[in-house]
Amino acid sequence: MQNFSIPQTISSTQKQIFAFGLLAVVVFFSCLLGIFTRPLSYFSFFWPSNALLLGLLIRFPSLKSFGGILGAFFGYMGADLVTDNTFLMTLGLTLSNFVAVFSGLFFFNFARAKLPASNNNVSELYPHIIAVTLGCFFGALFAILLLPNLPHTFMLKENRWIDFFTWWSGEILNAVIVLPLILAAPGWSKFKKLINNQYAKETQIQDILPFFALLISIACTHIFYGPGALLYPLAALIWAAASYQLFNLALINSLVCLTLYHSVTGLFIDQVNSSYLTTIISIRVGLIILGLATLILCVISQNRNQLYREVLYLANHDSLTETLNRRSFTQLSEKALKHKNNHSLSLIMLDIDDFKKMNDQYGHYVGDRALQHLSNIVKSNLRDHDLFCRIGGEEFIILLNNNNLNKTQRIAERIRMCIEHQALNLENLEPIHFTVSMGVSHTHLPTNLPLQDLIIQADQALYQAKMQGRNRVILAS
Ligand code: GH3
Ligand code: MG
Ligand code: MG
Repeated sequence: MQNFSIPQTISSTQKQIFAFGLLAVVVFFSCLLGIFTRPLSYFSFFWPSNALLLGLLIRFPSLKSFGGILGAFFGYMGADLVTDNTFLMTLGLTLSNFVAVFSGLFFFNFARAKLPASNNNVSELYPHIIAVTLGCFFGALFAILLLPNLPHTFMLKENRWIDFFTWWSGEILNAVIVLPLILAAPGWSKFKKLINNQYAKETQIQDILPFFALLISIACTHIFYGPGALLYPLAALIWAAASYQLFNLALINSLVCLTLYHSVTGLFIDQVNSSYLTTIISIRVGLIILGLATLILCVISQNRNQLYREVLYLANHDSLTETLNRRSFTQLSEKALKHKNNHSLSLIMLDIDDFKKMNDQYGHYVGDRALQHLSNIVKSNLRDHDLFCRIGGEEFIILLNNNNLNKTQRIAERIRMCIEHQALNLENLEPIHFTVSMGVSHTHLPTNLPLQDLIIQADQALYQAKMQGRNRVILAS
């Protein structure tokens, strides 16, 4: 998650004005959206403002300023007043919304500070779940204690408790729909990177299959009416949760919850008129559980994928130099040898000169730093798809494809000179210069020559380089 920071050069008054303007506009328009979905009953079908405001305050803490709070207040008041609510009712509703959002924020910060740290990503959801459950609880409680006592109220004292549960469940459902979108939305730089990657990468049919499955399952809720409808999208949601990034999943989840809410309430309202509110509560709770379960599954799946990538990286790389290890190099180079797009392969064997002396003179730690220094220099001289491996000790191997011998030789020479001229600079030590020797072998593809033979040729050339005085590149004869 990225924190929002307003540039240092902006004065505190400007920050307040910015927070005021942003929250006033966001709250005002999201309230209008809620008010226009009110006709279903006196409760809104969808009231995004509170979850939106809570999400913004959690993600961008600098908005929690006097200006921001005032902006949100004007946003709530303005939206109800322009749609002809009485002043007292508007104030009562605004205060109820404020109680929900700011008690939610309080519980979020409290839970985050008090819950023990854990490396399990699901536990990152706990403060959000606590904030939403308790924030909405207190918001709803405040509303049912205050609003029935106001003039021109739409809430009756005798219906207090059913109204409480309708309000509370509605608010939690709004949060399940809106909050993950705000919190998981990519920041600007990540967004640009995603867009670029999207263009670079072709969309595969299997990428969109879970989404299609969801569309079909949602359509089915309109074809086969009945109480089971709430569960129609379950399998497709599980599929999507295991396939998509959290933000994309949150977006899909929100659309599913909204359309399902709309279609399922539509189905039941005519049939069960007498128990309208209890039916609504039951549908809302069902959707809360469905939406939350999907989000939890997506977080677990992303966590597992990330762990898998980390373990795979560790299994394939040398921990000191972060170059490929021997096993993964062998696998990848065998593939390169057989790849139909490759028309030539070059191998460069590289060995540090008199490394033992460096270890003896400066110690093993400095030797290790020299190995890292060398790896960085080599990597900066290679293309992304070239293979670079530490085969042991201070010996490395590089595989280049589709370079002619001349070009390979120039690359090897460039690397040799970079290493010779870029000294290793360590604290409290004079710059340390060292050199490398290299042997180069080359073949056109396809070839019957096994990879091992190419390695032996490069190794023999390296031996020649050592024999001829070190710090040089020799081609295999
Ligand atoms: P030459 O120019 O002939 O290659 O001489 P050399 O001293 O580099 O070669 P030699 O094979 O005699 O010594 C290699 C040294 O590399 C010995 C070993 O202690 C050191 N070495 C191997 N692995 C590591 C490592 O991971 N870290 C450090 N610091 N030293 C290592
Ligand atoms: Mg050596
Ligand atoms: Mg050696």
